[in-house]
Formats: sequence, structure tokens, C-alpha cells
Amino acid sequence: MELWYTEYQTENLGLSVRIKETLYAGRSEYQEVAVVDSLEFGRMLVLDGVFQTSVFDEFIYHEMIAHVPLFVHPDPRTVLIIGGGDGGTAREVVKHQSIEVAEMVEIDGLVVDVSKKYLPEISVALNDNHPKLQLKIGDGIKHMEEVENKYDVIIVDCSDPIGPGAGLFTHAFYQNVHKALRPDGLFVQQTESPFFHQDLIKRLKADIASLFPITRLYLANIPLYPSGLHCFTIGSKQYDPLHTDRNRIPDNLDTRYYNRELQKSCFALPNFVQDLLK
Ligand code: SAM
Repeated sequence: MELWYTEYQTENLGLSVRIKETLYAGRSEYQEVAVVDSLEFGRMLVLDGVFQTSVFDEFIYHEMIAHVPLFVHPDPRTVLIIGGGDGGTAREVVKHQSIEVAEMVEIDGLVVDVSKKYLPEISVALNDNHPKLQLKIGDGIKHMEEVENKYDVIIVDCSDPIGPGAGLFTHAFYQNVHKALRPDGLFVQQTESPFFHQDLIKRLKADIASLFPITRLYLANIPLYPSGLHCFTIGSKQYDPLHTDRNRIPDNLDTRYYNRELQKSCFALPNFVQDLLK
């Protein structure tokens, strides 16, 4: 018998993957958590029916959400990851020599536990008690209310703007992000598909631009996510991502998607995306 799993990406569109088996299915205080083993994407983490990451293409998202902002900042030492319970972003962040402390605040301990068990290649940094990584199970929204002038870079590796992640896409949250950053700090957030989430992208751009002097959007091709084209938004107090000195990006960085050329080219936007930001 064939088994298929469908994520409904819009009201009228689904992505179906043929699966070998469901490795885990459970419910936390916050969401339904599942890991399925699929034929095209390999093992995949699914939260509330939404595909979060897969062993097939996770490197694209995790490398792009981590390395792009970390190389825009000339000397990131203290970094915060909000969400990111699968550990992929943490794995990329700790590759940076300059980083002294990487804090991670993930709301759902079950996502961390399940990722450690079923997605070891993604969660590796969570498993090996990395000396630079401090993992806290808690609400990233609340955490941001409590800190001030602490981080060089904040990475908001969140799920969609529904459920526990909804408050991570608000003006009030960005005000606290601004407060938590040092005077030359910057943050990045995954901001969904420029095809299917245009209203969201426009609103976030306006919210972030009302607080940060520099706001830039960049793109990556991620097969698992709606439309395959995914965007990330940076809010920066001082450093403009368009003027990053790419000489400080080492040749031997261990990455499969990200590279020195992409640090610049990912900010080149098709006209219809530029129009969204006007
Ligand atoms: N790569 C993914 C994507 O774009 O779909 C995101 C993956 S990561 C698994 C998202 C994480 O954000 C989830 O583990 C979820 O529990 C966490 N999260 C959601 N709301 C949160 C909050 N308020 N504070 C901290 N973590 C949160």
C-alpha cells in the first residue's frame, strides 16, 4: 500500500510526498510533532502538518539563514537563535570562529528531543554539548522582552506565523529585537514565499523599516517550501548587507549551498519582489 503525506500550503495547493513510514507522531503543549521518512526528501520534521525541514534540502535554509547575516556583521561574538529546534541553524552558527556564545531559545522541548533522535545530522550541535551553545527551552517572545543591548546578531528561525510562532511576526516583537541588539547589531528572520505570502512580506518590511535604518530582503531556492523560492529579511542598525566585505569569508567554509558569491547575489531581487517592497 502506498503512503502519502500532504502539506496544504495554501487553501488551493498541497505538496504531497510518498512516505516509507512515520517514525514519530506526538503532541506537545504547543503543537503536533511528527517525523516522516519520505522517498524524495528523506526524513522530514513536520509541525502542525507543515513541513519544517528535510535531510535532503535542509542545508540550503540553515546555511542561508546563518551565514548571510553572520558575514554582514564584521565581528559577531554573541548570537541568539530564536526557535530552530531541529538544530540546523545552531550547527551553522558555531562554524564561525568569532562567536563566543550562541544562545538558542526554543519554545518546544519535544521538537529538540525528536530532532536529536531522528535527525542526528541536523541536530548535531545540540547533541555534542557544544561549548559555545547555550540552549534554553522557553518562549522567544518573552525572552526578547527581558534582554537589552546584548546581541550582535539575532536569528529568528521560526515556523509559520500561526500557533506559538504568530507573535514572532509583530511590530512589538521587532521593537524588543531592536532593544536586545547592540548599537551595531542586526537580525534576520525567515519570511516565507514571495509568491504566496506577499501581504505578510509587505507588512513585515514596513514594520522592520519603521525601526531599523537598513532593511534588506534576500532569496534562496528551497524545494520543500511553498513555491520553492524562499525569502529572508534583515533589519540592521549599522551594517548594510549590500556593502559586505566579502574578503572576510573564508574559502574553506564547510557549506554545500552558501558561498562568497551568493553573499552578494542573494540580495539581487526579481522585479516583482522589488515591487513588493516599494
Ligand atoms: N526551517 C523552518 C521553517 O521555515 O519552516 C523552521 C524550523 S524550526 C523547527 C521552527 C521552530 O520555531 C519550531 O521548533 C517551533 O517550536 C519554534 N517556535 C515557534 N514559536 C516560538 C516561540 N515563540 N519561541 C521560541 N521558539 C518558537
